[in-house]
Amino acid sequence: MKLCLIGNGFRYELENLCRLFFPFERIDVCDAAPGAEDGFAALAARRTGRDGVTLTAGFRRDGFAEEASERLPAGADDETCERRLAVLLFGLLCQATGARPPWGILTGVRPGKLMRRLSEEMGAEGARRYFREELLCRDEKIDLCLAAQAGEEAILSTSRSDHFSLYFSVPFCPTRCSYCSFVSHSVERSAKLIEPYVERLCEELRATGALADRLGLKLSTVYMGGGTPTTLSAGQLARVFAALAASFDLKSASEFTVEAGRPDTVTPERLDAIRKGGATRISINPQSLNDRVLEAIGRRHTAQQTLDAFALARKMGFDNVNMDLIAGLPEDDTDSFSHTLDGVLALDPESVTVHTLSLKRASRMTVGGDRPAAEAGRTVDRMLTEANRRLTGAGLFPYYLYRQSKTVGNMENTGYAKPGFEGRYNVFIMDETHSILACGAGAVTKLRAADGFIERVFNFKYPYEYLSRFDEILARKEAVAGFYGRHPLV
Ligand code: SF4
Repeated sequence: MKLCLIGNGFRYELENLCRLFFPFERIDVCDAAPGAEDGFAALAARRTGRDGVTLTAGFRRDGFAEEASERLPAGADDETCERRLAVLLFGLLCQATGARPPWGILTGVRPGKLMRRLSEEMGAEGARRYFREELLCRDEKIDLCLAAQAGEEAILSTSRSDHFSLYFSVPFCPTRCSYCSFVSHSVERSAKLIEPYVERLCEELRATGALADRLGLKLSTVYMGGGTPTTLSAGQLARVFAALAASFDLKSASEFTVEAGRPDTVTPERLDAIRKGGATRISINPQSLNDRVLEAIGRRHTAQQTLDAFALARKMGFDNVNMDLIAGLPEDDTDSFSHTLDGVLALDPESVTVHTLSLKRASRMTVGGDRPAAEAGRTVDRMLTEANRRLTGAGLFPYYLYRQSKTVGNMENTGYAKPGFEGRYNVFIMDETHSILACGAGAVTKLRAADGFIERVFNFKYPYEYLSRFDEILARKEAVAGFYGRHPLV
């Protein structure tokens, strides 16, 4: 698809806008009007004259060919021109595709942050109006955004500038899900890397704990993610937890989550190791309770295994369990998603995170011709609306919300929780409230200074690199001390 920008440099926003409707099209940006041969092209032009600014958007494809224009007063600023051009183009793309993304022209990852800024500038009602009238967001999404923002703020207010959260990863999974874009290796492919990985991870945890101590940082939350941490044996988990407890003051942490993501890895021995390791929250992720869907996405576990894993966790005393769901999976429809909601609500978990399927380039799944994008978007829209209705009806409230690129229908991911059971780490990392010290392959340490300045320190992505270049990883950790030298705690 050709995107022709004339008299403006609004490439980032307008390209993202086109991607909402055509997530997998290649977009070539140029600065000339489309020629007669360019059958599939979007135009966004700004022409400035003595008496004002004329904005014109156009779109043509498969017999559809329309233009729309608007006049603004002379001196209209870039931000206004960009937004109004996006509105014009959005209208044409909606007409041409039959889709109407409920977040309107909003393309950012954290709508709550924008809502917070606007509320400070123009009050809550003004911010709501701006979302509805200027960004074309649907009321229901505005309400969701406001509710999640209130939940986020309550958690954010507990963070202090000397706080940090700890993340560590286990980048192995029993099999690779077809929608996965993480650097996660199936156990079959990488079994021999696991034992040396555990050794190195323990070493990195010890080094990071010593560093945090030296810098006077206070542990806020802990998150063990992946991959699937419960691909480790109970003995390996116990060793990692021992290194963790010896290196950090776990008692000062308000939350310690372990992702026991794949139900087929949940065993009494592993849960026992997790409980003894001090975890306060676990996540068991059904994604769907429809076996056909699970098979289609390569999970290689059944819905019954999820139910059994959850029952086992309860029996062993876990009283804070999260469950992840994904809307928009292949083979799923509104009825079967609703059946998944029934099953999950019957278990009565403390929190449920509802994701929208995101089809990243690195995933094995391609969007293809299964369902036209507009229809798939409408289906996901119904699924998310139903999830919101059912979960809030059951006393779980939205407490964090973010958006990813290339989600079906340009939708959102929302964390719902019973009051007091919110996943605090999720909120801190999304908001970039305080530093996250991260260990393991693919982990990214994110350092935050008191003035909001952010710096990142990357670990190597793949387990084999993590092992073979481990000394470099430890050396890079020194950047953390350098950062706090330049940006002292206040
Ligand atoms: S369990 Fe998660 S990390 Fe592992 S393959 Fe599936 S989506 Fe990827």
